Amino acid sequence: MATITGTDPLFPSFGHDDEVDHGTPFVAVSSWHKSLTVKRVMAAAERQMFGTDNPGFCTACGHEQDGCEPDARNYECESCGEPSVYGASELLMEIV
Ligand SMILES: [Zn+2]
Repeated sequence: MATITGTDPLFPSFGHDDEVDHGTPFVAVSSWHKSLTVKRVMAAAERQMFGTDNPGFCTACGHEQDGCEPDARNYECESCGEPSVYGASELLMEIV
């Protein structure tokens, strides 16, 4: 009789453990708006790092918002009004 302990196959791993302690609860990647893809976030984060843009994304509606600091959190979305806008770099850290 085998005892199953340790790894739980029910929880998909995103490559790292949830040891994130940023103070504010972060919206889980799986519950981001469908239009908010890894590709979009990565492209935006690159622009943020190498350009003058400061894009951020709303995790509630997927709206791309300019004028966000890289580590922006819980900014108000100018599209849907939810305090769910995060800087592109901040979001990228949740993905990688
Ligand atoms: Zn929004």
